[in-house]
Amino acid sequence: MAIYHEVTPRRTFMGKLKFGADLLEELTAVCVENDIRLGRVEALGAVRQARIGYYDQQAKEYDFHEMDEPLEITKLIGNISLRDGKPMVHAHITLADSEGNAYGGHLAPGTIIFATEFIITAYDGPDFVREYDKPTGLPLWKL
Ligand code: ZN
Repeated sequence: MAIYHEVTPRRTFMGKLKFGADLLEELTAVCVENDIRLGRVEALGAVRQARIGYYDQQAKEYDFHEMDEPLEITKLIGNISLRDGKPMVHAHITLADSEGNAYGGHLAPGTIIFATEFIITAYDGPDFVREYDKPTGLPLWKL
């Protein structure tokens, strides 16, 4: 059975991120600056290089793929919740190369911005706190 809470959109932020900065760090910084503890993030644009994760469910650890080439962000979608008392952005990203081939996965540090436009919506609602989840090995929401 699904476990969930009702949340209410409160504020929306829209902007662009800094050329040459780390994509995940920049999104997280916007959340920290505005005390966003719960929310949604989406973005599009381009990156100079990317690092994305694939979670190996048997080994219970991430394998990371690094792509050292310019790529289009065709979709970035994620949520914002709390881990260790601080806002954490969990985002997945789909990237396209010069041939239009798409790659996707869990956004990891090491993805460097070329140009990125974002929208973040902050929600009012209960705290969604990430804690270690034994069956998956992942930091999932304790609801
Ligand atoms: Zn993920």
